Amino acid sequence: MSVLTVAECPVCGGDVEITPDVIVGELLDCDDCGSEIEVRTLTPVRLEVAPTPAEDWGE
Ligand SMILES: [Zn+2]
Repeated sequence: MSVLTVAECPVCGGDVEITPDVIVGELLDCDDCGSEIEVRTLTPVRLEVAPTPAEDWGE
């Protein structure tokens, strides 16, 4: 009986499901494009692309 909210992925515009107990700062994965998305605000729900952790690709 969980109610899912759907917000728009900032990357691809697809639907991202958000659980009722989501918190600000929670990281979600977009099912459509696979991007990592961070919850910035809850009312209204606003999503932003999560900052990419530092990765050393050139090493
Ligand atoms: Zn997406």
